Amino acid sequence: MTERELLPISFLNQYVYCARRFWYMYVEGEQGENEHTVQGVLNHERVHTIGQERSEPGVLLRRSVHVYSHTLGISGICDLVEERVGGGLTPVEYKQGKRGRWRNDHVQLCAQALCLEEMTGCRIEQGFLFYFSERRREEVSFTAELRAFTVELIQRIRDALVRGERPPHTEQPARCKGCSLYDVCLPVESGFLQRAGPV
Ligand code: SF4
Repeated sequence: MTERELLPISFLNQYVYCARRFWYMYVEGEQGENEHTVQGVLNHERVHTIGQERSEPGVLLRRSVHVYSHTLGISGICDLVEERVGGGLTPVEYKQGKRGRWRNDHVQLCAQALCLEEMTGCRIEQGFLFYFSERRREEVSFTAELRAFTVELIQRIRDALVRGERPPHTEQPARCKGCSLYDVCLPVESGFLQRAGPV
């Protein structure tokens, strides 16, 4: 599998949030922006250009680490990988806003860990999500259940791409509220038209 054929890990996050949103962005190339996405880009640039956290003694901080798994067919960038002297890697992903109620960020982080495991041969038990607006880290354990869910999700995405159909709207309308593709998707209007049927 070539680099171009590897699924970008950040799109796993989009798919968990809403399969339709994933489709708009990955297949149709829509890049909707709102205040949340713009602030997210600015925060990520800060992460990659200045130190956000001090290193503890014996911990090497590696920023913007390219990771990949040819077994799973995914690749991406870890915002930060903490490497302890004597072994031990911990991926850290920085996120705009607060912790959400869904697991999209956890899946993204877990996929990064699965890549690092394949690249290094070392087991990784946990990582961290750092939410800018809360200024705190959330520890994420890479449980067997989260690993299995992440692997299954990658297969679901591949199956969806083979089917070649734009997925339906999310069944959780609360997710549409902050979606930068709302004006492209128009979930209320198109849902109304679908219910009305053909004219
Ligand atoms: S507006 Fe709602 S249904 Fe449409 S892409 Fe965004 S989250 Fe999905």
